[in-house]
Amino acid sequence: MTTSPSTAAYIITPEGNPVPNHSETPNQLKERERVQQWSDQLFRTSPMIRFMYKHLSLLDCNPLDPSSSSSNRIASGSRTTKDEPTTSNRSQGSSSSSSSSSSHLPPLLIASCPEGIAGGFNPSAPTESTSRSGILLCSNRIFSKSHLEDTLSHEMIHWWDHCRFKVDWSNLSHHACSEVRAASLSGDCRFFREVGRRNFGLTKQHQACVRRRAILSVMANPKCGGDEKVASKAVDEVWNSCFGDTRPFDEIY
Ligand SMILES: [Zn+2]
Repeated sequence: MTTSPSTAAYIITPEGNPVPNHSETPNQLKERERVQQWSDQLFRTSPMIRFMYKHLSLLDCNPLDPSSSSSNRIASGSRTTKDEPTTSNRSQGSSSSSSSSSSHLPPLLIASCPEGIAGGFNPSAPTESTSRSGILLCSNRIFSKSHLEDTLSHEMIHWWDHCRFKVDWSNLSHHACSEVRAASLSGDCRFFREVGRRNFGLTKQHQACVRRRAILSVMANPKCGGDEKVASKAVDEVWNSCFGDTRPFDEIY
């Protein structure tokens, strides 16, 4: 399984739009190839990534199918979930459709990103097939294979939610629910590294970590306007139903 045939070089503009990077520096090339290589390895060997890949494919959302994705955009400000600079914690933008740049971006776009964008999930527009979503991986923000694994699994959980539940990302409750699940089920809060074990480690620390990360992500939703109170309220309101919803992980038994 290969993530994608050696993709072209892209750079993400400060507005969050991908544009071809015609003057890729040797360092950017090195970072891109490194993330590509890690990604290829993870799709082959990581139980978590393989599990999510399988479950996305079952919903006709194949993150490795070059024909199935990101027609003409990926990016931050508008629709893409935006990442926290240092971690794999993203949140979601909404509304405005976007750029007109490059068509047929790979579903997993590895690109060099400006300050403030670390990656994210770019959901398809309501009129499109949910398979036409994409994940942005910022090659200059991913420093280890395990960081990539956490980032990828977090975004793949958003994608799964998008395909399975038709999430309205501009609705803070919907967004909060997916962030709670993504933070809880991915490696973000270091509890679920082994797929297949029903060890949900429901510790107070784990819950506090999930809640904190989900709030930060929801705060970055334009509809939330950075208001921590609003974000906390959205997270708390969906907490019980979403924290307890471990799909697709509970379907393996
Ligand atoms: Zn997220």
